[in-house]
Amino acid sequence: MSTKSKTATGNGNASSNGTAVNGEWPTRARHLLVDLDGTLVRQQEAIDGAAALLAHFHDRYAIVSNNSTHTAQGLAKRLGRLGLRVPPGRIVLAGELAVRQLAQQHPGARVLLIGSPALQRFARAEGCDLVQESADFVLLALDMHFSHARLAVVANELLRGARLIATNADATHPGPQGRVVPETGALLAAVIAASGQQPWRVIGKPAPLLFEEGLRRLGAEPGSTVVVGDNPLTDAEGAARLGMACLLVGQTPGAVAPTVAGLFAAREEAPQYRLSESTSKVWRSVRTEVS
Ligand SMILES: [Mg+2]
Repeated sequence: MSTKSKTATGNGNASSNGTAVNGEWPTRARHLLVDLDGTLVRQQEAIDGAAALLAHFHDRYAIVSNNSTHTAQGLAKRLGRLGLRVPPGRIVLAGELAVRQLAQQHPGARVLLIGSPALQRFARAEGCDLVQESADFVLLALDMHFSHARLAVVANELLRGARLIATNADATHPGPQGRVVPETGALLAAVIAASGQQPWRVIGKPAPLLFEEGLRRLGAEPGSTVVVGDNPLTDAEGAARLGMACLLVGQTPGAVAPTVAGLFAAREEAPQYRLSESTSKVWRSVRTEVS
């Protein structure tokens, strides 16, 4: 990063919407890559400080999420209803990126897609040949109607020789009242158990693809970009792999504030989360990424 970019926003003490900025980190970071679930939104509501954070970074942020059920278009509308106006081009999602990669790198491939109706429509629009049998690839995303019957189809396609791509490996994401919402990783665990096959690729964080796409869209460099997220295993680990600083929020160990609202009040030298050796070890033992 250049010294110039470090100070490009100066030492202003207020964000663009007037929120007090006591810590200097928002003015030192040129670009922001921010997680969605648990960081900006929780189920049907925006988290405290989310609008202020996006307003502060204005056109210098991208949302980078392991979400595989929505398209960027659909998600932008949903965020708009929650009071967060985000252009679809600023939203990088594991589901969409997995589809695009597959369509571009393996044109004409037969794809068994386990995922939401929105992702199925998106895949067809991207030119994917969606099939129910004799697939070259099984693309596993979050499917709210996953069932024993679908698990049987997937397991047998993999045993026949199809390659498995998972959009992400998160087991859960945060739901309301402290509850968890099962994620693609939970379905992936069932697929691995039933088929004995490991995934050929996992697209989502902490793998670098999503963050790299976010950087590309912003024209940003890792050294002048900060990642804000709530998950040490995906957000902090993924940021560390690309040499980006990461600030964690929420209840996780190492979080600098309970919500993104607290980031604006963080002290100048707010500790950046460093993945501890023990956390890293836990993730290595559970993660299924092979790429
Ligand atoms: Mg999250």
